[in-house]
Amino acid sequence: MRLVLLGAAGSGKGTLAKKITSDFGIPQISTGDLFREIVKTGSPLGELVKGYLDKGALVPNEVTFDVLKNRISQADCKNGFILDGFPRSLDQAKMLEKVTEVDAVISVELDFEELEKRLVSRRTCPKCGDIDNVNYQGFTGSCRKCGTKLFQRDDDKPEAIKARLEVYKNNITPLINFYGDKVFKVSSAGSPDETYAPVKTFLVKLEAKI
Ligand code: AMP
Repeated sequence: MRLVLLGAAGSGKGTLAKKITSDFGIPQISTGDLFREIVKTGSPLGELVKGYLDKGALVPNEVTFDVLKNRISQADCKNGFILDGFPRSLDQAKMLEKVTEVDAVISVELDFEELEKRLVSRRTCPKCGDIDNVNYQGFTGSCRKCGTKLFQRDDDKPEAIKARLEVYKNNITPLINFYGDKVFKVSSAGSPDETYAPVKTFLVKLEAKI
């Protein structure tokens, strides 16, 4: 199954992607994660990408598409993948169409006030990428999986959050229209399991059809 996951930062799409990966055995490909890895290398490309990430602005299409194309050509993607964070614009969707089909698009929806609240209190593990939230029960400031001290991503700070949500808002409607009846919408206002249940039912049916 070749899936696209749409949803603003903080909507819970990363968590949903992990559940899909575990049940359906297809990798989650997050362009945000790929970029953060590139930044860590400190290479000239990493420096360039960092400038965009710190501002919450989109990395230019050519750079993004090269990184994505390279990732989906790897062996673990032969039975499909879940794209998380790509495409983020109509232009990117059209670029993607040239290299692969998309079987379905899951759109994770949550109102912007709630998104802002979730993002400012989000903390990330620099080692394993796990995400926690200062408002969640049992939060200690250390990663629940590997014990590393959590940090606040620069783009989870208030000014960058506003920029990221604005960019998302402007780009999402044309994308939803572009994918038309391939889109399955789900609200993430409830718990991660409540969000996942209808998605799983949808994907089981889709898998049987492919
Ligand atoms: P995310 O982790 O998905 O919120 O992405 C973090 C940052 O990576 C974004 O704010 C952008 O700077 C960059 N990024 C991720 N995906 C894309 C994309 N499809 N196109 C351009 N920039 C992206």
